[in-house]
Amino acid sequence: GGEHRGRLLDGLNPQQREAVEYRGQALLIIAGAGSGKTSVLTRRVASLLETRDAWPSQILAITFTNKAAAEMRERVQAILGDGASGMWISTFHSSCVRILRREAEKIGLSSSFSIYDSADTKVTLKRIIKSLDADTYGFTPGSAGAKISKLKNELADVDSYARNANMSDPQEVMFVEIFRQYTARLRAASALDFDDLIGETVYLFRAFPDVAALYRRRFRHLLVDEYQDTNHAQYAFVHELTRPVTTALAEQMDRDGVHVRNLRDATGGIPGASLTVVGDSDQSIYAFRGADTRNITEFERDYPGAKVILLEQNYRSTQNILSAANAVIGHNFDRKDKKLWSAGGDGEKIVGFTAYSGHDEAQFVSDEIDVLHRAGMAYRDMAVFYRTNAQTRALEEILVRSATPYRVVGGTKFYERAEIKDALAYLIAVANPVDELALRRILNTPKRGIGPATETALASFADDNDFTFRQAMRNSSALGLGPKVTGAILKLAELLDAAALMLVPTVVAEDGTGSGGSNVSEVLEFLLEGSGLLAVLRGSRDPQDEARAENIEELVAQTKDFNKENPDGGLVDFLTQVSLVAAADDLDDASGTVSLMTLHTAKGLEYEAVFLTGIEEGLLPHQMSANEPGGPAEERRLFYVGITRARQRLYLSLAMTRAQFGDINVAMPSRYLQEIPTDLIDWRQSPGMANSRGGTQPRALNVRRDGYGGGFNGRSKELAGLPPAPPKTKTEWANRITGTVRDNGSLTLEAGDRIRHVDFGDGLVNQVTGEGTKRIAHVQFDTSGSKKLLIKVAPIEKI
Ligand code: ATP
Ligand code: MG
Repeated sequence: GGEHRGRLLDGLNPQQREAVEYRGQALLIIAGAGSGKTSVLTRRVASLLETRDAWPSQILAITFTNKAAAEMRERVQAILGDGASGMWISTFHSSCVRILRREAEKIGLSSSFSIYDSADTKVTLKRIIKSLDADTYGFTPGSAGAKISKLKNELADVDSYARNANMSDPQEVMFVEIFRQYTARLRAASALDFDDLIGETVYLFRAFPDVAALYRRRFRHLLVDEYQDTNHAQYAFVHELTRPVTTALAEQMDRDGVHVRNLRDATGGIPGASLTVVGDSDQSIYAFRGADTRNITEFERDYPGAKVILLEQNYRSTQNILSAANAVIGHNFDRKDKKLWSAGGDGEKIVGFTAYSGHDEAQFVSDEIDVLHRAGMAYRDMAVFYRTNAQTRALEEILVRSATPYRVVGGTKFYERAEIKDALAYLIAVANPVDELALRRILNTPKRGIGPATETALASFADDNDFTFRQAMRNSSALGLGPKVTGAILKLAELLDAAALMLVPTVVAEDGTGSGGSNVSEVLEFLLEGSGLLAVLRGSRDPQDEARAENIEELVAQTKDFNKENPDGGLVDFLTQVSLVAAADDLDDASGTVSLMTLHTAKGLEYEAVFLTGIEEGLLPHQMSANEPGGPAEERRLFYVGITRARQRLYLSLAMTRAQFGDINVAMPSRYLQEIPTDLIDWRQSPGMANSRGGTQPRALNVRRDGYGGGFNGRSKELAGLPPAPPKTKTEWANRITGTVRDNGSLTLEAGDRIRHVDFGDGLVNQVTGEGTKRIAHVQFDTSGSKKLLIKVAPIEKI
């Protein structure tokens, strides 16, 4: 005991220590970024175990990503050794799946239910919208899906929604019909979408108090990280689990042999579990997914007598970085003011950089990464953040060229690739035979001569006869489709049946548990072999197919790893694991590489050096947020999250022009930049200042050709007039870009003119497109190829 206790509390400040040792019913820890919330939660778990106030099986700790869960498990294990096994540390979604797999039959689902991701939801909605002609009412799979998701996050189902809907509005009537059919299709396929995982668990607890009581008895301590980003359904899940068990139910449990006597209090019931939540309202960035910070602000009302602990010391960042973060977030109103401070000293100034174009900005980032790396910083300690995925293109191009090892975290996920979804659909069709979506996906993949007309015929055959799609396949001889097509359908159905048989245990023990069936990789290999999926890709001359084949081989390798790591794990376990991989989970083998990710993915993480790119109006705040109530405030929190990820070095960069949707736009610096005190930022604009960057040797200037003009040479000459400090007013900002620097606004160019560009030399204007400030010259340069230049800001003159 005592020795452990010493180690557990080592280095904690008094507030953190109090949070670790508190043993009351409800505890709220609110604190700014980097103040040790997650660390305290981890130590609290360790402390509960170490003091024997809880068994591992009595703890449910909820993190935002699987990766955070794994980290917490590791840290608890590091403190306590093996004492941590049996504990549930997982995301909301993973916990709910575990519960639902056990209890599925109670709510009319098969325990091997499928989990639909957003792409699956889209395909399903697309089919529904098509069959209802709902697009004429303005519905798209995206818009209908977003609305359904929002309702589910508020725990509304189609019936409760329909009761309050305005049924004299035809659009509303149509939406209800879409929602109804969507619900029905998922039911028929024994499938749940992501939102259902939480909602159905809450429903289960509410509809079956005896089931809820079992879980309330089991989990005596709930701990939730990032509580500010919980939505109503997640709130309800927590609430259901932490409610007391009534005397009557407790007595019933004792009679049923579920021993609860030692848990019962003076009233004869079981008191509610203890609940610890940690969060920071300033980091709430998921309102668009229904997150509600009221879950934090009203915690004391929901859990009377709750203890509240504030943490204010930040252990992550330098004071300069924190001062910037404080200043920015201070511009949000209706928040409790809290000031973070650090004992770590001011540190380096924040570096600001105004680039000519997105490519130019990428070049700056790449050069700076190089400087930091040569100064001894490991690549894995650096990260580049952006608001939108589209921004990665320029970054990746430059990083590839400069041979900088990097990784895009949560970009296109492995499991979202078409060929991987194909292979997985075979497995899903075996695990859950009623999943029509999976069956239709593989019906003609690889091509076996089953066309869309046949697919539709099978679907209506199923509808008319109250068959599942699989049954329709088995009975397809009755459809008169011709021997070749019928043969292909039957062969596929037989392949799936044979694969299902492989899973049947060959040995059944006395307690009913089976073993000896084939494992996941054997089943997958059998399906790949029997369907020809892999062979077709391997035999193709298309180099893309070669890559696809390699991806499928990688999937096979993953199933083998899974077998090794989970000797008792079955097909459904594997599919569950695949479904629940979240963006930040990609980080796992990020060792030795620079991480690129969106600001949303960056939540909870920290790096020695952070590059925040594209700090421009339209990107941050994002243009979509402009008209949303609370939009700009939420975007400001996103900026705050980004700033507070940095430990030592922070870079803020923006580009004066940015290519978007094939257009070149003049970008305005983000309004949030003006909120940072000027003396905290060291503004740079030219590589000629390389000497002032940490004392590195001046490098040869890279003359780049980014297609839009610009480049270091161009910039250093053209933007030399740029003042080093950021301007104070909007007009000044605008002047900086359009006035002080360059404004070719009045330059009239037309086809046939000859121009001179600072970088590219002389050229002939072939064409001028666009209007006003967006006029673009299409120029054939004598020696530099053809380029498109935004006339207003390009470093050009007429000759
Ligand atoms: P965020 O709001 O970004 O999620 P957080 O409040 O969860 O941040 P942590 O990630 O737990 O903060 O901690 C930030 C950093 O500070 C980590 O590197 C952690 O190890 C360190 N840290 C936390 N508490 C202490 C302490 N008492 N002494 C030294 N370092 C600490
Ligand atoms: Mg944290």
